[in-house]
Amino acid sequence: MVVAWHRPTRAVIHTKAITENVKNEVDRLPKGKELFAVVKANGYGHGAIQTAEAAVAGGASGFCVSNLDEGIELREAGFTQPILVLNMVPIDALTLAVAHDLSITVGNQEWLNEAAEFLSDRGINHPLSLHLKVDTGMGRIGFTTPKDAVSAVTFIQHSSVLHWEGIYTHFSTADQADDTYWKLQQKRFIEMIDAMPELPRYIHVSNSATALWHDEPIGNMIRFGVAMYGLNPSGHALAETYPLQPALELVSELIQVKQLAKGEGIGYGKTYTTSEAEWIGTIPIGYADGWLRKMQGFSVLVEGNFCEIVGRVCMDQIMVRLPHEFSIGTKVTLIGKNHGQEVTMQAVADHIDTIHYEVACVLGTRIPREYQD
Ligand SMILES: *Cc1c(COP(=O)(O)O)cnc(C)c1O
Repeated sequence: MVVAWHRPTRAVIHTKAITENVKNEVDRLPKGKELFAVVKANGYGHGAIQTAEAAVAGGASGFCVSNLDEGIELREAGFTQPILVLNMVPIDALTLAVAHDLSITVGNQEWLNEAAEFLSDRGINHPLSLHLKVDTGMGRIGFTTPKDAVSAVTFIQHSSVLHWEGIYTHFSTADQADDTYWKLQQKRFIEMIDAMPELPRYIHVSNSATALWHDEPIGNMIRFGVAMYGLNPSGHALAETYPLQPALELVSELIQVKQLAKGEGIGYGKTYTTSEAEWIGTIPIGYADGWLRKMQGFSVLVEGNFCEIVGRVCMDQIMVRLPHEFSIGTKVTLIGKNHGQEVTMQAVADHIDTIHYEVACVLGTRIPREYQD
């Protein structure tokens, strides 16, 4: 896997924006409620380590990741805060979880049985910390009945190789105006909590959307993800509770500028033909960078001008229609602000019928991430 440093295309990450987004949320939390920064998927494409550093500067006291390797990446970078893996991990990797002091999610008894047996056979020096996942309506991992959850907790408490550190659930509609289903999920979680013989160190239910829009009395920790990158979890549906600052800009340069005569074809399949003499610029980014073929027809910013992407998006290049000649090397903004105009990640998501989470995550590893305060 190479990063294309010798190409002008860059994702510029403003770490101060992340720090401030986290700080604004931490300042709103009731005393004693912690914020864990969700830095899974390489910090939603922003870079896990740099994002984690920025989040700590804003007051985050722990992290959530999606798999063991992401947790190990943070440990190897020197982070000593609690790290929760939001999923089960393969049994034969559990000694790594213990060695790196990573907390793991458990969602069913079968996994728990195997984990206990495996770790008992291994002679580990401290128990594996577990967060019990309760499925209150996502239909994903997790215990669905209080009976099963309580018996899992009892099982953990009777094991010398397991430690019960947390219990949590995840809401599926926290980013919608209608909170009927959210309330049902909350009710189910409270029933689970009420059934427990005792409670663990961490109880947590809030993703960004719940933290921003729901008056959530349950829990002593929140899992703050997309909002810390400055993105509104609901897209357009709900107004931001406080201004979120987008952390990512995607920029490049014009590497060729030419005037084509009327009637010339642009790109594979000749899907665009110049209707008059037109200035056409080429930019070194394409679908191999996560700038998908569906981006055809969208616009990039050149000196504050919205310039349409004409012709098909290639693997490594796109062509845009310029209002007039620009010199080679002129800056192009694909996401972010440019001469008073702005292209948001939300606008990109709208153009390709998806959510900004996906736009951020699919930005290719080939694009260098450059960090600015
Ligand atoms: C990804 C994830 C989060 C963070 O969600 P955001 O909407 O990005 O805040 C929280 N909890 C779980 C279980 C997740 O998988």
